Amino acid sequence: RRYQPDAIIQRLPSTLANQIAAGEVVERPASIVKELVENALDAGASRIEVQIRQGGLEAIRVSDDGYGIRPDELELAVSPHATSKIASLADLENIASLGFRGEALASIGSVARLTIESRVGEAGSGWRLSLNGREAPPELTPAAHPVGTSVSVSELFYNTPARRRFLRTERTEYRYIEDMLKRLALSRFEVGFTLIHNQREIFRLPPATQPAQRARRVERLCGKAFYRQAWALDFAQEGLRLSGWLGGPQAARAQADLQYVYVNGRSVRDKLINHALRQAYQPRLYPGRHPAWVLYLELDPLKLDVNVHPTKHEVRFHEARRIHDFLAHAVNEALERASPAADAAPAP
Ligand code: ADP
Ligand code: MG
Repeated sequence: RRYQPDAIIQRLPSTLANQIAAGEVVERPASIVKELVENALDAGASRIEVQIRQGGLEAIRVSDDGYGIRPDELELAVSPHATSKIASLADLENIASLGFRGEALASIGSVARLTIESRVGEAGSGWRLSLNGREAPPELTPAAHPVGTSVSVSELFYNTPARRRFLRTERTEYRYIEDMLKRLALSRFEVGFTLIHNQREIFRLPPATQPAQRARRVERLCGKAFYRQAWALDFAQEGLRLSGWLGGPQAARAQADLQYVYVNGRSVRDKLINHALRQAYQPRLYPGRHPAWVLYLELDPLKLDVNVHPTKHEVRFHEARRIHDFLAHAVNEALERASPAADAAPAP
């Protein structure tokens, strides 16, 4: 259809508007896993189970034991811009949850089959809401479910064939999901995470509260080779704190595939942070090698903007320069202490 310069302006039907918005949030099965697991974390879950079939292309189900959604709010939960997490601009500037845009469920529901089962308290009973695209109205029926929520998604992009063509093989989509869940599992040690692919248990991580249990989780997710030689770091200065594990320069990798960074508990891929970290590592690395790290930066949420992109992978710091220098300094110090620069030893 050709664009008509003299066409009249009309408001888009809400389904189409949601499908357009979904393009920003739901890129592939792994993005759905991210949104659903973040919702489970925001609901105070202590255990989260992710079940996928065929790399998530066939089906995704995320179950949690969080506080659930009341039956009379289920339909609202899947409508656009509906959220329980913020109510004002002040809340937006001081965000304590992973979600806040009220977009994920509405977006997912507009490009896939979506079913939510939930139960709020011991007293209540479970309910199921099924969205069947535009063909049929949403259905709300009683359903057996323990306290918590299970969200099931299938037939991703069944109604948007152009988007479906961008999906890759089962293997590739599976890898994206596994990496995403690793990222999330490293962000919340006190929560148990399970991944099941095609009925096979890939991992079951118990809640980790003791240092030894946390260490086991890092070892399990990042590999023994990383954990054995990594240095623990905990550095605080003027309201900023950086903690986590730094891989030694000798264990640098051919790819930058083991670099996990969290800002106030949120996984990010941030240019400024990466630049600062690379700057600290640079003099100690062979060219073309990539260090590994699992790092947690904490700062006053008022000095951070997380509402930069719908996927929230990016953040903006109010004091970018100060953050950059703090990170470079903290990592440099740690590397210095860990490796008393054998090559710079004083001549006899
Ligand atoms: P957001 O997370 O930005 O608020 P979502 O579309 O992801 O938007 O979810 C909408 C609302 O549905 C949430 O604000 C929350 O109240 C509710 N919700 C979604 N998932 C869960 C869950 N697993 N447990 C409890 N409540 C949930
Ligand atoms: Mg959400």
